[in-house]
Amino acid sequence: FRIRRGAISYDSSDQTALFIRMLDVRLRSQTGYTLERQVSAEKSEKKVRHESTQRRQHCMLQKVGSWNFDIFLFERLSNGNSLVDLTFHLFSEYGLIKLFRLDLLKLRRFLVIVQEAYHSENPYHNALHAADVTQAMYCYLQEPQLSESLTSCDILLGLLAAATHDLDHPGVNQTFLINTNHYLASLYQNTSVLENHHWKSAVSLLRESGLLSHFPSEDRQCLETRLGSLILATDISRQNEYLSEFRTRLDRAELHMNNSQDRHFILQMALKCADICNPCRPWHLCKLWSHKVTEEFFNQGDIERRLNLDVSILCDRNSNSVAKIQIGFISFVVEPLFVEWARFSDTPLSHVMLGHMTSNKFNWTHLPQKDLRGTTQSTFS
Ligand SMILES: [Zn+2]
Repeated sequence: FRIRRGAISYDSSDQTALFIRMLDVRLRSQTGYTLERQVSAEKSEKKVRHESTQRRQHCMLQKVGSWNFDIFLFERLSNGNSLVDLTFHLFSEYGLIKLFRLDLLKLRRFLVIVQEAYHSENPYHNALHAADVTQAMYCYLQEPQLSESLTSCDILLGLLAAATHDLDHPGVNQTFLINTNHYLASLYQNTSVLENHHWKSAVSLLRESGLLSHFPSEDRQCLETRLGSLILATDISRQNEYLSEFRTRLDRAELHMNNSQDRHFILQMALKCADICNPCRPWHLCKLWSHKVTEEFFNQGDIERRLNLDVSILCDRNSNSVAKIQIGFISFVVEPLFVEWARFSDTPLSHVMLGHMTSNKFNWTHLPQKDLRGTTQSTFS
């Protein structure tokens, strides 16, 4: 249809409105369909879409203990709030809210400020990685060796540590912070600089939200200390210390889950596994994470080059590839840890994880370049 120009008064100060009114009249007369109805139809369509998204999100949460859980899809369904929604769900599923008399508003506020304290501009170390680690941690907490012996306090700590373990991560590694004289490096005397910062940030957000303000102060103190010991265990440069202790204690059959210190040690190992479990996920998820982490490494390398610093080993885009980095990471870091974990927790999940790890390593080694590219499309059905 055509609007006749002659019908529009150009003297009016509000020509747009007049034009739209004209359009409205034409639409009404030609189709019997008013703009108002059209707008309300769009609104209700949006509402239906919103409800169906919520239903799908709810459906996904029913399977939150599945190792195939697609956190990228969940992130979309939760409108970018996967860390808040997932952690809140796990807290209520475990009955932690009732048990520890947590204030619902304070809990939600705490989770929101945690999620916001992650840098969304980091390709890898952002709130989605934290949500992914929390989901993996939940899978491990459900394993018989752990679920039969962990206390509610252990579970609360395990989930809190997973959700906060990379808080306020700057997207560069410790070496970079030391080489650029970053204040955090001097504050923590060049030792577990990032992990100390994640822990201290977590404690400050816990206090700010008042989530545990009703706990006796010695319990709060103990919880904050244990939280630190869990988060500090994720320092990959201390991997061998933890791994050889794990190995020795398994060899000597010295791990007793009725002992609180042993349970804490297992929580540390579980969090370490959750943190680096990307290569043990199904290929399409493993591939996405691998590209994200490499992008972050290469970004650091680019900054180092601009600042005339030595480019860190894994951060040089000219001498590395996603595949090459992943093969090394799996062989020297992931495999040794998950082999010991499977000795401790000899379950179907451990076998599935080792199976994915082996076939993913095979893919990185043998698949043609075109199949190694990262794409997010396949996961968004
Ligand atoms: Zn992490």
